[in-house]
Amino acid sequence: MKKNTFHLISLGCAKNLVDSNVLAQLLEAEGLTYADSPDQAEFVLVNTCGFIHDARQESLDTIREVAGLKKSRQKLIVTGCLSERWRENLLIAHPGIDGLIGTRRLEDIVPLVRALAGQGKVSPYLDYPALQYAAGASYTTIQGGSSYLKIADGCHRSCAFCAIPGIKGSLVSRPVEDILRDALFLQEAGVNEINLIAQDVTAYGADRNEQDGLFVFLQKLLPEIPEVPWLRLLYTYPGMISDNLIDLMANSKQLLPYLDIPLQHASPEVLRSMRRPSDVDSVRRTIQTMRSRIPDLVVRTTLIVGFPTETEERFQQLYRFVEEMQFDNMGVFTYSPEVGTFAESLGDPISQEVKEIRREKLMELQSRLALEKKQALIGKTLDILVEGVDKEQEVLIGRSYRDAPEIDGLVVANGLASVGDLTPVTIEGVGPYDLFGSKA
Ligand code: SF4
Repeated sequence: MKKNTFHLISLGCAKNLVDSNVLAQLLEAEGLTYADSPDQAEFVLVNTCGFIHDARQESLDTIREVAGLKKSRQKLIVTGCLSERWRENLLIAHPGIDGLIGTRRLEDIVPLVRALAGQGKVSPYLDYPALQYAAGASYTTIQGGSSYLKIADGCHRSCAFCAIPGIKGSLVSRPVEDILRDALFLQEAGVNEINLIAQDVTAYGADRNEQDGLFVFLQKLLPEIPEVPWLRLLYTYPGMISDNLIDLMANSKQLLPYLDIPLQHASPEVLRSMRRPSDVDSVRRTIQTMRSRIPDLVVRTTLIVGFPTETEERFQQLYRFVEEMQFDNMGVFTYSPEVGTFAESLGDPISQEVKEIRREKLMELQSRLALEKKQALIGKTLDILVEGVDKEQEVLIGRSYRDAPEIDGLVVANGLASVGDLTPVTIEGVGPYDLFGSKA
């Protein structure tokens, strides 16, 4: 173990990955250096996820594992959503933890590390009513030719099943100039793709009472990054996609024709009990309008099955909706009740078995529909962002604009290119998720 070193284990979503990068920047600015493996580091940080049961379990297992391997002079620090949500329980359950900070003020990592290094006392856990961004920090991450850029965090909504507002607090949009600075940094780093992230990117600026804040912001951003071919929006919210945004997506070469819109359900009764917009017809109209205005549009959604108010009939309504809407990409989660959410009082009346059956049915339907839709891609040439190359087999793996990182499909193609490149591939075969072809 080397003094003044740290190792960071990042769990959970892309927003947490960006926070991990900010924590690393703060510690490097404090004079610490990164250690490639936990056993070499004086400080081991576990940046946790606390969103749903399985993610929490992964975080707890990781903490237990690191605590078990911890050497005498090493310090274990837990950060992230699980720490923000359940700090007391964590300290009782895991005495091996030397320090905790939450998600709302990442800068607290500096005084904590100083205190654990013997400079001063470990101050008690501080509570913050709202998110505070670390001044001067870059809220980005880069993986090959792709990157994430956080434009806001926290959420001002109150979906009944969701613990995020309780963990992160209400929506706080980052200052425009800070995001533009980060975007220029990513352009200079030579990325080909920037994924804009928040809990809900379409709410950008709403906390500053800005109208159509995301559209206004994109008008400032796009001209600043002419060398970044792909700009992708992740996590939009139903009812928040303005005509201006649709126009911009229809006319911009950089803003990808990719709509990620978690709808969660399609039964108005279930949506109302989820405290979410229940005007399903307006969702239909928005998607139909976008498809007519943006021919190559790709629509991704996320759904929850097994919510307490989901009767068999209401599930069938969801099934018929998926059949009708023909999404390009889709994720389905089984409902798990979360402590402290509005839905907690509804209990969990639907068995896990029934939830799994419903999830299976939707995923089977989706894979059939997606396979049928993808047939139209055969013979087409798409630009692929290369993420992996097998030089021996002369095979490259990557993503087209149709696929967001980590959640959608891949493209496997014969040919060679460098990781991070955008290279044209002619599609020769399709699967329900992935595409196959050869470098053009
Ligand atoms: S929009 Fe709803 S589901 Fe998304 S983070 Fe906010 S409360 Fe959670």
